[in-house]
Amino acid sequence: MPNSSAVAELGGVRTLDVAIVGAGFSGLYMLQRVRDVLHLETQVFEAGDGVGGTWYWNRYPGARCDSESYYYSYSFSRELEQEWNWSSRYPEQPEILGYLNHVADRFDLRRSIRFETRVTSATFDEASNRWNLTTDTGERISAQFLVSAVGCLSSSNTPDFPGIDSFEGECYHTGAWPHEGVDFTGKRVGLIGTGSTGIQATPVIAAQAQHLTVFQRTPNYSIPARNEPLSAELAAEIKANYDEIRQKCRDSDFGFPYVPSERLAGDATPEEQRRVYEELWQLGGFRFFMSSFSDLLTDEAANDTAAEFVRAKIREIVKDPATAELLAPTDHPYGTKRPPIDTSYYESYNRDNVTLIDVRKAAIVEITAGGLRTEDAEYALDTIVYATGFDAMTGALLKMNIRGVDGMRLADKWADGPRSLLGLQVVGFPNLFTITGPGSPSVLVNMPVAIEQHVEWICDCIEYLGRNGLSRIEATEAAQNAWVQHVFDEADETLFPLANSWYMGANIPGKTRVFMPYVGGMGQYRDRCAEVVANGYEGFAMQN
Ligand code: FAD
Ligand code: NAP
Repeated sequence: MPNSSAVAELGGVRTLDVAIVGAGFSGLYMLQRVRDVLHLETQVFEAGDGVGGTWYWNRYPGARCDSESYYYSYSFSRELEQEWNWSSRYPEQPEILGYLNHVADRFDLRRSIRFETRVTSATFDEASNRWNLTTDTGERISAQFLVSAVGCLSSSNTPDFPGIDSFEGECYHTGAWPHEGVDFTGKRVGLIGTGSTGIQATPVIAAQAQHLTVFQRTPNYSIPARNEPLSAELAAEIKANYDEIRQKCRDSDFGFPYVPSERLAGDATPEEQRRVYEELWQLGGFRFFMSSFSDLLTDEAANDTAAEFVRAKIREIVKDPATAELLAPTDHPYGTKRPPIDTSYYESYNRDNVTLIDVRKAAIVEITAGGLRTEDAEYALDTIVYATGFDAMTGALLKMNIRGVDGMRLADKWADGPRSLLGLQVVGFPNLFTITGPGSPSVLVNMPVAIEQHVEWICDCIEYLGRNGLSRIEATEAAQNAWVQHVFDEADETLFPLANSWYMGANIPGKTRVFMPYVGGMGQYRDRCAEVVANGYEGFAMQN
């Protein structure tokens, strides 16, 4: 074990074994394991004033999970699994936040979390093999290990529209929603963005606002969620079968317990294809994506059968043909942007108080004092909702101003796109671990499955180092290069690179376009991580 036994204060610098940044799903579990299983001195630093991460910040109307509740949750504690009761298939944000607060209370985690404290810099000191951190509250910390739990989708992106500060109405980003909520009654609301967030928010805002104008740049393929309460019988069945459900998630490609299809779309007749898609459309959620045909992400013709089915559904649901056409995506294959699931999204466009504007045809030119102007019209608005997403996967990490060996900035090291070994470590940044870092399955899977695996791998590694009297671990260049190549090769076998998605960094002007997550599948990735350990942390260099 590393040797500092108490939180020491040396010349105003707090010393820790492990500093953890972020108190969402990742940071909470990391804390529980480091403190209560490894018995190391640790502290979480969290910018918000509560736990929950994503579910603390994203309080916009309609926010709920897209992974079903019973596997969008921790598996590490059987007692927690058995005592917590989910209300429905896809609970709303307050319930998920309630769950994470329950976890924090149940495991007495709050006393080890510093809230309203943002880590503003992290610098590696070669002489001591420790990380020196500073925070916006003026704290200085020295920690042997730095664990980033800052989230893949936590650095919100508001486009730099000219005139943005001149708007005299109210404006909100969905990823930093006011805790007291927003009343849209009687308001002319403009919503920019039709990703998962805009798609969830649209029907709920439409139901309250006087008028909702949705500004769409890229239409999306959305599948109905078909949310419903979890019946007592189903809840009991889930609780009785948790072990099996969790194992299926861990072994799967996407971290979901669904049975994957082994059938190629081309092996089914068009009639059979429609029957399969219709059945899954009726079931709702991600099964449409994962259980229909096995080649949707690798074969454009196969993909188009699913895409065409969704387009036909949109034309069936949306009464105005011109609006339906605008909503029907044709510029990217189905599933190559994160597929949204919805509750009455397309139906919203049949309301008299909802208008869809195509800002690909006529782009947003500026935000004005009274609304928004596109290349061909002006829209008077009382409220603007930015559902414009995140600087995904690297944004929050780079904002932490991380400097490794020789003062090298992570931002410079990753100027041409993130490079890592297994998404866990980066050459030149010893003793830094990144939970769900780029190069790992992360955002392509049901995230708690990826998070738990990373937390456990990192904790096992820290325990191993301590047991063997080692104080430093770092990815080697050769192993990192090989892994990065493997990540690219896997992505190139799919249709993912065909979309201008945030997976590619394409949503942020100037960001280098590379496919960031690992698409090889959760099961395969877990096996590789286990193999690395079995081979004595193959690909990592360790020192006393
Ligand atoms: P986060 O929850 O993002 O937590 C990171 C925390 O780090 C934040 O609280 C942030 O304040 C803090 N932080 C960042 N930088 C600093 C710093 N420098 N100093 C201090 N604190 C810092 N995934 C799924 O698998 N299924 C879903 O259904 C699903 N739904 C989602 C819905 C929404 C609206 C969004 C935005 C994402 C969703 N996700 C979903 C992805 C989701 O982000 C993950 O499932 C999961 O919550 C991530 O947990 P995390 O702890 O890794 O990161
Ligand atoms: P997003 O998917 O990145 O969508 C952002 C939207 O804003 C896109 O439609 C984008 O258009 C548009 N946009 C961005 N900049 C613009 C500009 N300058 N002008 C016009 N339009 C612009 O972000 P998100 O919807 O917040 O979702 C991000 C991720 O969070 C999701 O993919 C998902 O992983 C997660 N999430 C999950 C859930 C859930 O599971 N329940 C819910 C919400 C979010 P383009 O497509 O043209 O770039």
